Order: sequence, then C-alpha cells, then structure tokens
Amino acid sequence: MGKPKILKLILKNFVSKPATLHYPLKEYRVIKFPYEHTLIEEDARGRHYADLTKCTGCSLCKLDCPADAIEMIPIPEGYEAPKINPRKIYPVVNYFRCVFCYRCVTICPVNAYITTSEYRLASPESIDSSQLSLSTLKKASGG
Ligand code: SF4
Ligand code: SF4
Repeated sequence: MGKPKILKLILKNFVSKPATLHYPLKEYRVIKFPYEHTLIEEDARGRHYADLTKCTGCSLCKLDCPADAIEMIPIPEGYEAPKINPRKIYPVVNYFRCVFCYRCVTICPVNAYITTSEYRLASPESIDSSQLSLSTLKKASGG
C-alpha cells in the first residue's frame, strides 16, 4: 500500500465512529462514555439456577451435564430444606465450566430451573449458582 493510501486510511479511521460498543457497564468504568446496551435475544441462554422449592435433589441434572459443571451439595444449616428433597442436597452450577446447553433445564423432571438471559458473568472470582438457589428457600427460624 502506497503512502497516500495509508494516510487516507489513517485520516478516515481517525474521524470515523468506533465499530465497537462501549463496554463494560457504566458503574464499572473509570472513564465515562455514553452507555450502550448490547442487544441480545430475549430467550438467549444465560445464567440459570435451581429453584429449591421445586428441586427434589434427584441429581439427574448433574449426571447429564456434558461439561461436568454441576455439583450436588448439602443445603446448609439455616435454611428450611423442603420435604420433597429428603437427601437435602441441591445442584450448584459452576458458570465457568458451563457451556449453557440447557440440558439440565430440559431434563429436570420437575422444571426446577429458573432461566435468565443474563450473560454478563465475567468475574475475577469463581462464580456459581449457590446464592441464587439458596435465595429461593426460606431461612429456618432462628437461622
Ligand atoms: S434441579 Fe431437577 S434434575 Fe436437578 S437435582 Fe433438582 S430436581 Fe433433580
Ligand atoms: S447448561 Fe449444560 S453445561 Fe451448563 S450446567 Fe446445564 S447441562 Fe451443564
């Protein structure tokens, strides 16, 4: 590419709008730019978690997860474990391992998974569904 062509290209790019969207969200930014929403489909597969008022602790979702992203763990003390869950265990999705195939959602015999289109899951720490799932349970009295 000759010099005039390069100069023309540099000038063009210098005055044109960026092709990318401003990201991340305003509250995380040091430099303030106008916030732009990333458009996604309403039914996009995002963060999902088990509603523990429905979950029976059967472990089917864990057994069928192709990414080995689900761990069954005990419902901690301080929460009222429902009678439908005699083993008092629940599935925790590791969002770092999950490939969002939603196999767990479709295979659950009691439709216990709550689905969302939330895709903003980047975090410096490991993130999972435990707190969201536990928020579906009542706290035990005195807990
Ligand atoms: S979420 Fe559904 S499939 Fe998974 S353990 Fe609970 S009841 Fe079983
Ligand atoms: S969406 Fe797929 S990969 Fe993620 S936890 Fe469910 S079954 Fe596993």
